[in-house]
Amino acid sequence: MLTRENIKNRDSLSILGFGCMRFPTRRGSIDVDRSVALLRDAAAKGVNYFDTAYFYNGGKSEVLLGNALSGGLRDKVKIADKLPCFMVSKLDGAKKIFDTQLSRLSTDYIDYYLFHMLTDKASFDRMADIGVLDWMEELKSKGIIKNIGFSFHGSKTDFEQIVTAYPWDMCQIQYNYMDENNQATKSGLCLAYSLGIPVVIMEPLRGGKLAGSLPKEVISSFADCRKDWSPAEWALRWIWNHPEVTVVLSGMSDEAQLEENARIASDAYAGSLSQEELEVFDRVKKLLLEKTKVPCTGCGYCMPCPFGVNIPGCFSAYNDKFLLGGRINRFKYYQTLGFLSKQPAYASICRECGRCESHCPQGIKIRRELKAISQEMEGFFFRNGVKIYRKFKRI
Ligand code: SF4
Ligand code: SF4
Repeated sequence: MLTRENIKNRDSLSILGFGCMRFPTRRGSIDVDRSVALLRDAAAKGVNYFDTAYFYNGGKSEVLLGNALSGGLRDKVKIADKLPCFMVSKLDGAKKIFDTQLSRLSTDYIDYYLFHMLTDKASFDRMADIGVLDWMEELKSKGIIKNIGFSFHGSKTDFEQIVTAYPWDMCQIQYNYMDENNQATKSGLCLAYSLGIPVVIMEPLRGGKLAGSLPKEVISSFADCRKDWSPAEWALRWIWNHPEVTVVLSGMSDEAQLEENARIASDAYAGSLSQEELEVFDRVKKLLLEKTKVPCTGCGYCMPCPFGVNIPGCFSAYNDKFLLGGRINRFKYYQTLGFLSKQPAYASICRECGRCESHCPQGIKIRRELKAISQEMEGFFFRNGVKIYRKFKRI
């Protein structure tokens, strides 16, 4: 496992970090034993940066990580955890959340503590105004928090304002070959680096989209250049090629992913991609941009919808229809969101309350897109067919 030095505090961090958000599951629930084993195996393979958050997996993520690190591993690795700013209106609320996090993690300190999902300077100012920043600095002076950072979803300008507003110890941004000019952008990454702020990368595979079923033209563009790299390997190597990146988080949900990522992270040096390899990304980006309708990463921050719409599920099926072709993906939409889901979850159920939109880090106009999806994917016969089928089946 390669490591890179945190340019601010000289921590030696594994270039592969474990994003504790997508654990192995069994019959729809997290498989606890397998998840704990996976986390420990990651540590044994040299991963020393584990990233969690207060609301990941409804709080189970922190508990699982705490369990996995008990028995001697805790002090050998770095834990990054996050304060859910959108749930905090008073300092006391932040303190309660922090105490819960320490207890869930079975630890008495957190290495990297982040404001979760700052979207603009106003969201940071609000935390400072209610005293959260001062309180975090006090915890830092006592060694209970080692580093103060933030995770970001917003525009390049917003990122520039936040990153220059405070002497941060680190920041976490969304970055991958499809987002080079989106969100914080490459210039934001370089700005943070030039300020001496280490950058941790999230969504390196855009919620798995850059690893999963890609159009055949994309797969052959990659394969024409190198047959021995999977699309996920191409995507990860592209990020590690940047010397400005310290850690790349991957939400590894099975042993094979860990195995593959750890292997790649053993020789993915900065600047190691050839000119020919870099040019492949230009072709792939062009192909994917032409076909992606909604830039949803599947993070689930917009959920749950009070009316039952499976928002990321709708976007995924819709995108797949254009990326991979029509009939089978329309059928998948019918099955997973209409006929076989626990409750109807398709786009036209949306009542346009708007509650989901402010939570979307990608700024997607969810209501507008769902309307377009319902026009494209549904029809009179679909909606009535679902009603009749579910009544008949008593789902
Ligand atoms: S706008 Fe639609 S999808 Fe979003 S929360 Fe409201 S009903 Fe659900
Ligand atoms: S719509 Fe936005 S918040 Fe919801 S899953 Fe997609 S990217 Fe995440």
